[in-house]
Amino acid sequence: MQTNVLHPNFSDVWSRDSVFLERDRWQARLEAVTPSDVECALTAAPGIYRPERLLALIAPAAQTYLEQMATIAHRLTVQRFGKTISLYAPLYVSSYCCNQCVYCGFNCSNQYERCRLSVEDAVEEARIIHHEGFQDLLLVSSEDREFITVDYLCELAHRLRGMFSTLSLEIHQLETQEYARLFEAGIDGVTLYQETYDPDVYARYHVKGPKADFQRRLLACDSFGAAGMRKLGLGFLLGLTDWRLETLALGMHGHYLMKQYWRSQISFSFPRLRPANEVQAQQFDHLVSDQDLVQMLLALRLCFADAGLIISTRECARFRDALVPLGITKMSAGSKTNPGGYGHKDGSLEQFAIDDARTPSQVADMLRQQGMEPVWKDWDSGFHPQ
Ligand code: SF4
Repeated sequence: MQTNVLHPNFSDVWSRDSVFLERDRWQARLEAVTPSDVECALTAAPGIYRPERLLALIAPAAQTYLEQMATIAHRLTVQRFGKTISLYAPLYVSSYCCNQCVYCGFNCSNQYERCRLSVEDAVEEARIIHHEGFQDLLLVSSEDREFITVDYLCELAHRLRGMFSTLSLEIHQLETQEYARLFEAGIDGVTLYQETYDPDVYARYHVKGPKADFQRRLLACDSFGAAGMRKLGLGFLLGLTDWRLETLALGMHGHYLMKQYWRSQISFSFPRLRPANEVQAQQFDHLVSDQDLVQMLLALRLCFADAGLIISTRECARFRDALVPLGITKMSAGSKTNPGGYGHKDGSLEQFAIDDARTPSQVADMLRQQGMEPVWKDWDSGFHPQ
């Protein structure tokens, strides 16, 4: 376990440096960035995080430098990752949820028939995914603690370890000891989104349930980092508040995790709000445009040379294809966002609507056409300490 009790956790760091405590000041700093600040940020050695560098690259003044940023991001990504993109698939195991997150189709206030997969059913779904060629599986669940227990996940991991080289999780927040048990069972990556780093906005969108505790949420990445997870995934939900301020906070969080859990790889994801059951885009005032998302992605690559950058099927095929040469390292393909979706279980609702419905082999073909190698396996479970 990588622990250092003398080091502050991210909640301590955050209470000192939160961008959202002085929102107006940071917004003014973003507006004050000049073209020469951006040029200075672009001429410094790429791939190294400095708060002022990230600030310059996400500022409005950097919007006219996207081509230069893209050229540097591409070169840096090829240097660090080669001409490869890893492919993964999500497997949803439950849509029961005790939280009321306003933006989510699984929100507990929405009335519809929910679905849980037994371990046996989940293994059946996983077999379908495995037959499509995937070696990297992401287990996803809503907050359904009664059913999706650590025992359930350990049993599922034991059943799946022979089928997949990489198993990771995107589920409700757990404690370090629970993550450590899952790591021993063969799960070596966890992604957990802060959703928003602004405490006021967080309170507005997380109305009810354990997830409504903002401070606890800030500690989540520390919990799985300390448990020794090999891959730490983070991000915010794009569309809840000003993406530029959120990206500053995300950069700070990513940098903290890199230093604190230096044996792990950090990854940034870019979940942009999507229509879902009873969730319409018009409800949100801060929707992020394609150009903004590109700027954010490039700025993060230019500050974090070794970070994974992940894009899911939330985005449409055209946009995903355009992102491939800009620094992306991993994509999902052929995704279903409802439990039982791969085996076509009837009546199970999606968490959100996907926008790239191509099959995994079509996505792999697209990558080859762009001169990239689709990677189905980038790790062997034999390296796992168990
Ligand atoms: S975002 Fe997660 S926790 Fe919130 S309602 Fe949806 S499934 Fe539940």
